[in-house]
Amino acid sequence: MNSGLVCGLTGGIGSGKSYVARLLHTLYNIPVYDCDREARRLMVESDTIRRRLAALIGPEAYTADGQLCKPVIARYLFASPQHATQVNAIVHPAVKADIRSWAEQQRQAGASYMLVESAILVEAGFLDAVDFVVAVEAPEELRLERAMQRDNSTAQQTRQRMDSQLTDAQRRAHSHFIITNDGQPLQPQLQALMQQLQARL
Ligand code: ADP
Repeated sequence: MNSGLVCGLTGGIGSGKSYVARLLHTLYNIPVYDCDREARRLMVESDTIRRRLAALIGPEAYTADGQLCKPVIARYLFASPQHATQVNAIVHPAVKADIRSWAEQQRQAGASYMLVESAILVEAGFLDAVDFVVAVEAPEELRLERAMQRDNSTAQQTRQRMDSQLTDAQRRAHSHFIITNDGQPLQPQLQALMQQLQARL
């Protein structure tokens, strides 16, 4: 029986999580679960989420053709800080359950290692669904610069997102391995990570 190891990959905005996930996928053929992308998918595809979001926000949360009505959701989230907590309480448990079933499928398909990428791995309660945690870290100024360039956003918008996330020190407290993405080579660090994962399997 292949037990498989589910590795959470976290880090603040602009730290280079997705970049590292892509490298691990390319170099070691590790399947990647992108929590952001899958959460957006589930908000459209999951009947339970649809029912609960429509009950919370109103039926106008979805358009006539069944898509998420982003302006309505954005308005709801903006109206009160508690609203994000309420939406998260609906979406995050569904994502966690989906991570588990995805990992099971990957195991059955023979994967030894799996990656679960999320900026909010800790905050969203996804730690329960992973066996090992890797944090990607980079100096704040570099993260800011990378994220602004990628998203075409202002420093203020990017800092706001940074401030809503945990600090590197807080994420570190939950991590088994740190990748430093400050311009130094990543491949030796990824090799060291793979050795640690192999030892855990
Ligand atoms: P995150 O997912 O943590 O928000 P990304 O992985 O999207 O961050 O990285 C932010 C931006 O910086 C992306 O455009 C990415 O291609 C770039 N980037 C990150 N790390 C590196 C690196 N080591 N070398 C070159 N570009 C990088």
